[in-house]
Amino acid sequence: MRSKIVAGNWKMNKDLAASKILANELVEGLKERSVENTRVIVSPTFVNLASVNELVSASVVEVAAQNMHQAKSGAYTGEISAEMLRSIGLNSVILGHSERREYFGETDALLAEKVNTALEHGLEVIFCFGEVLEDRKSGNHFDVVASQISNALFTLDASAWKHIVLAYEPVWAIGTGETATAAQAQEMHAYIRGLITDKYGVSIAQELSILYGGSCKPGNAKEIFSKEDVDGGLIGGASLQASDFIAIVDAIQ
Ligand code: PEP
Repeated sequence: MRSKIVAGNWKMNKDLAASKILANELVEGLKERSVENTRVIVSPTFVNLASVNELVSASVVEVAAQNMHQAKSGAYTGEISAEMLRSIGLNSVILGHSERREYFGETDALLAEKVNTALEHGLEVIFCFGEVLEDRKSGNHFDVVASQISNALFTLDASAWKHIVLAYEPVWAIGTGETATAAQAQEMHAYIRGLITDKYGVSIAQELSILYGGSCKPGNAKEIFSKEDVDGGLIGGASLQASDFIAIVDAIQ
């Protein structure tokens, strides 16, 4: 059975002290809950990954990085490698977030390299993609999503897919307060699962967790998560408050 996942992307928010406070609140808040078949992941900024990872180590909370460099090592000032993430005990990395694509020029080709490097180093990849508003308005959203997925992921061996989580994040819904409707999310997730079925077969597609991201909040999470092909959420703004994030974890139970 595929895992349900609620992942919080803290982006460039929270200094060390604030990251520890939030991580502690999550550990405490989730202690009494039975989070069956649900993974809870948080993604602090690079400098706080090690501290937060240590702090949550005895809890259900897992930690993922928000990005990494495609090269194994070398003269890439300011960058972080997969091996470095592994060396502090991390098992997952988010790749392809729309903010990385938009502000840092990350292309499908670059992301294909990053995915390969991450997998080679034993990192699970939470791979983000999604259409911008113009694509949605012009009815191009299915084609855009299909090409983002196929360009970055369709050279992978079938065996790699147990280390991949997909996160459909329509760009027009990220941080805007405008959420895709549950029906829109389900329609796209079913389409995505169909793409994976066509390329890799039904059992890989059925085992694959596909998350929705874009202004997901305590008030709308339950309806979105109730859809058959929505296996959880990648949460931005609402992951910065323990009470909101825990309410979203509750919504998936
Ligand atoms: C995100 O950036 O991945 C995201 C889903 O943000 P928000 O929840 O704030 O829309």
